[in-house]
Amino acid sequence: MPAGAAVPFQTEGSLQCWMVALIIGALVLILVILMAYQRYVAGKKPVQHLCDYCGHMVVAVSDCHHAPVRERFLHGTCMECKKDCRLVCARCKNPL
Ligand SMILES: [Zn+2]
Ligand SMILES: [Zn+2]
Repeated sequence: MPAGAAVPFQTEGSLQCWMVALIIGALVLILVILMAYQRYVAGKKPVQHLCDYCGHMVVAVSDCHHAPVRERFLHGTCMECKKDCRLVCARCKNPL
């Protein structure tokens, strides 16, 4: 049985052109949105926390890898392992 992937080109080229244009347009749109979102995220300044242990304004890192985190309310997502993690002080590694 043929796999069905090798469909021969037919004369309904305009429909195929429309489909291809639509798919490319959607992909470009997604790409643009992703880039805009990344720029928005990168443009945000890192949130500073006051550490109770060392008394400095510090950046939070993940407790599992001491890597940068995407901060959420009271916890974050480790950018190293993409898992849920707690926020710790970047200087003294104590929980924030
Ligand atoms: Zn600290
Ligand atoms: Zn991690």
